[in-house]
Amino acid sequence: MSECRQPPRLVLLGKQGAGKGTQAARLADHYGAAHLSTGELFRAQAASGTAFGLEAKRYMDAGDLVPDEIVLGVVEECLAPGGPLGDGFILDGFPRTLPQASALDGLLGSHGLDLVIDLEVPREIVLDRIAGRRVCENCQRVYHVNSPPTVNWTCDTCGGEVKQRDDDTEEAVERRLTLYDQETVPIIEYYRERGLLTVVDGVGEGDEVFERLVKVVDDRIHA
Ligand code: AMP
Repeated sequence: MSECRQPPRLVLLGKQGAGKGTQAARLADHYGAAHLSTGELFRAQAASGTAFGLEAKRYMDAGDLVPDEIVLGVVEECLAPGGPLGDGFILDGFPRTLPQASALDGLLGSHGLDLVIDLEVPREIVLDRIAGRRVCENCQRVYHVNSPPTVNWTCDTCGGEVKQRDDDTEEAVERRLTLYDQETVPIIEYYRERGLLTVVDGVGEGDEVFERLVKVVDDRIHA
């Protein structure tokens, strides 16, 4: 863990397939911060068959965004004082729209974000990554058809079944990329204007990208 006084408060932005989920989990572990992936949270709810999860799944499978009021209801609970996110956190997949970004500012009040990282990966690379992406149903560990688990699509970490995500179909992926440009790219500008944004190159081996991320976070929190 880094020598920082308190775990940082970070937002990780990036297209689907940019490696946000994997890197956010590693950063959370490295800095002793909580990791909130709204996508993972919705998938877990859908897998448990709750009414809320099944509603979210309809949007997810079509590649649509879950409506802001549903997302904000969930995030508000997590960020509430004494809630599961505590003082330091890595937000992964949230915010994704301008109303969500502005609601997040309101929720955090005077103790705002330390840094927003845009993990940049070109469209053709994310398309290839998503086409080959396979995910453990149980612990969400991400594999690729070119680097599968050791034994017959069974997760090396937890033994869960490793399969394609329901929303990784070609149509849903196209839709998600379009929505990313329409809804999420404007928040990059929003954070740039507030002096919070840094862009990190997300192309390369996972360890290499992780080192780049730690460097920008350390530079910011020790500045
Ligand atoms: P992810 O795991 O981050 O790729 O998210 C999977 C799906 O969950 C997205 O394609 C959306 O349908 C939904 N989702 C996750 N986070 C949000 C959010 N902040 N706002 C709206 N929809 C979201």
